Amino acid sequence: MKLCANNVVFDFRKDNKEVLKVLSGTVLDVETMDCFSNQLRKEEDTLDNLDWDRVNPATGPIYVEGAEVGDTLKVTINKITLDKKGTVCCLEDEGTLGHMIKGSALHVVEVKDGYCYYLDREPIPVKKMIGVIGVAPKDKAVNAGTPGPHGGNMDNTMITENTILYFPVSQEGALLGLGDVHAAMGDGEIGVSGLEIPAVVNLKVEVIKGKAPEYPFLENEDSFGVVVSKTTVDEAIVRATELMCEFLESRINLSRPDIIMLMSLVGDVQICQVVDPERTVRFIFPKKYMDDATF
Ligand code: CA
Ligand code: ZN
Repeated sequence: MKLCANNVVFDFRKDNKEVLKVLSGTVLDVETMDCFSNQLRKEEDTLDNLDWDRVNPATGPIYVEGAEVGDTLKVTINKITLDKKGTVCCLEDEGTLGHMIKGSALHVVEVKDGYCYYLDREPIPVKKMIGVIGVAPKDKAVNAGTPGPHGGNMDNTMITENTILYFPVSQEGALLGLGDVHAAMGDGEIGVSGLEIPAVVNLKVEVIKGKAPEYPFLENEDSFGVVVSKTTVDEAIVRATELMCEFLESRINLSRPDIIMLMSLVGDVQICQVVDPERTVRFIFPKKYMDDATF
């Protein structure tokens, strides 16, 4: 089953009509445009001609049968297949250095054999990731450029192949959407752009009854993580550690203070992005210190 990239939304909301209905357990390919709706694919393209109403498309929404409010949508990212070139840009008043430039600049970068060839520099190893992935939020619509409890534009380098995501279902069917794949991005995304690239994402969707987390959780072979977006990085860090502490309390047979000390010893606060309307951080905890390493 394949969902094409002409089925896109630019926000996550409860009344976005689904473009596909699938059963829990379905594996499918989702084609995604880059975050510019593929408008900047040639070196001579400029941001002056960009239609900003078509930025951050998310392919979807996908309605998952049986997903009800309070449930968890489990999404397993099996494979990300990238296009052959990506686009990176920076622009005035965007990102942490937007005050240090005038106008905008962009480059189209070849992606080949596991490397991104940026200008004449040492090739950059490909590090595939999905920038935007989320479900319909509880209340009002959230622009696809903004992250939150529903997921969205988290710009998290750990959302990659062989990662499992757990989203809180706030609307019937969950209404999953995704886009904004990057071939490379540093933590923070300080210039406001990764190597933005069209892609095909193979994923599996499953409904877990109940257990809805407040913010998305992620799991890979080694670790669990919670991904929190708030107005400031400081606020996001506090909530991420609180949520991980609660998560671990039912999975580690130690007292709360003992768990906090363990979190302090082996858990990592990491930055996802610091340039979107809300800032996103993750707190990562290794499975090997848990008694019950299941979601
Ligand atoms: Ca993004
Ligand atoms: Zn992006």
